[in-house]
Amino acid sequence: MEILYSSTRNASEKVTASQAILKGLADDGGLFVPERIPTLDVSFKELADMTYQQTAYEVMKLLLTDFTEEELKTCIERAYDSKFDVEEIAPLVEAQGAYYLELFHGSTIAFKDMALSILPHLLITSARKNQVKNDIVILTATSGDTGKAALAGFADVKGTKIVVFYPKHGVSPIQEKQMVTQKGDNTYVVGIEGNFDQAQTGVKQMFNDKEFAKLMDENGYQFSSANSINIGRLVPQIVYYVYAYAKLLKNGEIAEGDKINVVVPTGNFGNILAAYYAKNMGLPIQKLICASNENKVLFDFFNTGKYDKNREFILTSSPSMDILISSNLERLIYHIAGNDADKNAALMKALNTTGVYEITPDMREKLADFEGGYTSEEDTAKTIKDLYDATGYVIDTHTAVAAGVYNQYKEKTGDTTKTVIASTASPFKFTRSVMNAIDKKYDAMGDFELVDELSKIGNVAVPNAIEEIRTAPVLHDHVCEVEEMPQMVKDFLQIKK
Ligand SMILES: *Cc1c(COP(=O)(O)O)cnc(C)c1O
Repeated sequence: MEILYSSTRNASEKVTASQAILKGLADDGGLFVPERIPTLDVSFKELADMTYQQTAYEVMKLLLTDFTEEELKTCIERAYDSKFDVEEIAPLVEAQGAYYLELFHGSTIAFKDMALSILPHLLITSARKNQVKNDIVILTATSGDTGKAALAGFADVKGTKIVVFYPKHGVSPIQEKQMVTQKGDNTYVVGIEGNFDQAQTGVKQMFNDKEFAKLMDENGYQFSSANSINIGRLVPQIVYYVYAYAKLLKNGEIAEGDKINVVVPTGNFGNILAAYYAKNMGLPIQKLICASNENKVLFDFFNTGKYDKNREFILTSSPSMDILISSNLERLIYHIAGNDADKNAALMKALNTTGVYEITPDMREKLADFEGGYTSEEDTAKTIKDLYDATGYVIDTHTAVAAGVYNQYKEKTGDTTKTVIASTASPFKFTRSVMNAIDKKYDAMGDFELVDELSKIGNVAVPNAIEEIRTAPVLHDHVCEVEEMPQMVKDFLQIKK
């Protein structure tokens, strides 16, 4: 059955999945949501024997209903191939009684690859289906990982160009090096003198600027988004939760129908929202545990029902979660308001004008499946060290936030439900913070010395993504103020005016 998408702020305009992917953001600034959430139509027993690619098809076909079977299968095959360094694509590793779902085996070693390796294919297919003549310009704000994953996904893809804005002083050295060494004539990387929220707001403003859109069109271009506001990113992220459950079942860790908990280190709320969709599609998830770092706006929201972004922005060792405006939370708000676009629009307006909104007690009741937690920088480091000392397994700082929150949760509740922790980045991406957590002596070493040392103590090979940038030349050195973002885009596209 066909599923159409509408904006979280206006129920009247309905578009197909491919149109929603092309647009990224709705015209009214809202996010596209499916009119209903479909149910999985294969059994977990069947899923248990499927590959990642087969699972992806079974999940994605239910939501991207205007793609033909051939189109979707082609996109999936092109995305989940040897770019990933393990055949399972998303392996599960057990450590200290929890299952780490390693989502970092793609080309840029963070979980963003899970969706951004397929988004370019979904987008190009969508453009073809809708007879789009313009080149698609992907506009992306990144807190560090999306940028590189999007660049890698779109580099040299015909009919597309990609511009990435990142906070010049808010990403790890490895993250920055990965981005500024990106090859491809259609890529453009800019550091901004501001934080991620400012980058994201700047990008959203360009999307909503009707005059800019007209100017772009006159020059044969149109914008789309690779940020997790694009439904083409959200849908592929549902897959790995279903896959993880099926693998637990296959390995005899759970019985069919058993519930599991899921812990997700959260920033923009895309990854955990995918888990929420998975649950609503019939995956037996008991608790959705939302883990924050010291930017704990979501923890406060789940505990009080009040979202308040008016607070200090803290730079932490888990930079991809340094976010105060979690864009995808808007989709959850819309759903718990009973798919009420007007109600959601009013709350988002309040957020825009005052930085605060509060949900009703009715809406709060619908959040019972969620649990919010956060860790301090000290807890995060201690979690890495304790796990390493006990098992030899090394996790990155983001994953450690989730693991730390899970430890607190277990202590508080005594809940022994089998639990999957989304492991969102390779420790090689945040080497300095990870190694310092294990032993302060490492702080004296250089970035790549640390990489080799981590490989030694963790007994894992240095990933290709890191080998590549050791000697790669810097190809992008653009820096701008927040207000100059539109001009940077025009410069790159050689648009006069
Ligand atoms: C993006 C990212 C997150 C946060 O994911 P959201 O979908 O934005 O909540 C967590 N960890 C890592 C390593 C990331 O790159």
